[in-house]
Amino acid sequence: MARFNENFLELKESYLFSEVAKRVSTFKEKHPERSVIRLGIGDVTLPLGKAVVEAMHRAADEMGKAETFRGYGPEQGYDFLRKAIAGHYRSFGVELDIDEIFVSDGAKSDTGNITDLFGRDNTVLIPDPVYPVYVDTNTMNSRNIVYINGTAENDFLPMPDRSIHADIIYICSPNNPTGACYNRAQLREWVDYALENDAVILFDSAYESFVSDSSLPHSIYEIEGAESCAVEFCSLSKTAGFTGTRCGYTIVPKAITSVSADGREMSLNKMWNRRQCTKFNGVPYVIQRAAEAVFSEEGKEEAKAMTDAYMQNARIISDTMERLGIRYTGGINSPYIWFECPFGMNSWDFFDFLLEKAGVVGTPGAGFGSNGDNWFRLTAFNSKENTVEAMERFRSLLKKD
Ligand SMILES: *Cc1c(COP(=O)(O)O)cnc(C)c1O
Repeated sequence: MARFNENFLELKESYLFSEVAKRVSTFKEKHPERSVIRLGIGDVTLPLGKAVVEAMHRAADEMGKAETFRGYGPEQGYDFLRKAIAGHYRSFGVELDIDEIFVSDGAKSDTGNITDLFGRDNTVLIPDPVYPVYVDTNTMNSRNIVYINGTAENDFLPMPDRSIHADIIYICSPNNPTGACYNRAQLREWVDYALENDAVILFDSAYESFVSDSSLPHSIYEIEGAESCAVEFCSLSKTAGFTGTRCGYTIVPKAITSVSADGREMSLNKMWNRRQCTKFNGVPYVIQRAAEAVFSEEGKEEAKAMTDAYMQNARIISDTMERLGIRYTGGINSPYIWFECPFGMNSWDFFDFLLEKAGVVGTPGAGFGSNGDNWFRLTAFNSKENTVEAMERFRSLLKKD
């Protein structure tokens, strides 16, 4: 009989979004007349830009003609897209070699797949709260996880603790769910810590395009030395509405090496290339042409219009928190607003309270780690109209009179 990977027994039941969906549908059955506004979604809602859709159409036509049809593409992505991505990095002052850029079907797959490159006996540092993929994928491989606490005291931006040794460090900035974003000095400390520990930073920059404060970094490679210790994951999902279209990219600099137990060195770039060539056959040509269009002048304007629209919603939510005197982070360089549950409630009780009393759906912070037990996430991915309405309800529910 095939024996299963027993590490799966260690995974916590991922009931967050299914439990949210269940509670919402129970509520709707009981109160069919009540309107429900969802500010829990971690998915974009605006359609793809025109330049992107036109590029997809053109590429689809090419696929339908013998002269321009394409079969298997390069596992690493077509050069036209890798060049466009390199151009995007150049706009933050980061020079990348084309061979350091790997196109993928998204950042979720790559942040999980990267674990293939590392041995079991590494100590992995993971922030709490954070995107749950890092914990689950390392648990599937039975790695030792050490949590670093994001709390109100450190503005949900945990810093290195030099009494702890780590080999692999996950950083998500701007963070999902807290919206907190590291500044240069803070990332400098993380890079120094990684270099001192011969550790690798796995930097998730899925929300980089929401960074509007020009003093904040979009990429970890804006910090000198990061090119020899950091892998960066990014995605067009949130930046250009590609959640259903699927395209991301991972940067694995050639300067990073990792060692075997007996001291032999391997290039992570070569290992990742080997891994991708073995397990991945590339992103569809049509999608890569669409992704290329995101980096065109027109595409950039379209993407900016989308993030601007979401950020307007974020502002409406954070203004509400300000007016009510509720402690929160995010909403400035991130489409997420993370706030402390009023009345000392825990996040699931507050979820029920907000749904019952206001018909507003959010995401309980407990789903992102134990430091989220009394915190709550709202997202800017609904329409302006719905966001305004939801915040009016929120205010009348929580205003102190
Ligand atoms: C949405 C998100 C991603 C993007 O995942 P895709 O697979 O590219 O859609 C990556 N990291 C974080 C933290 C996210 O929230």
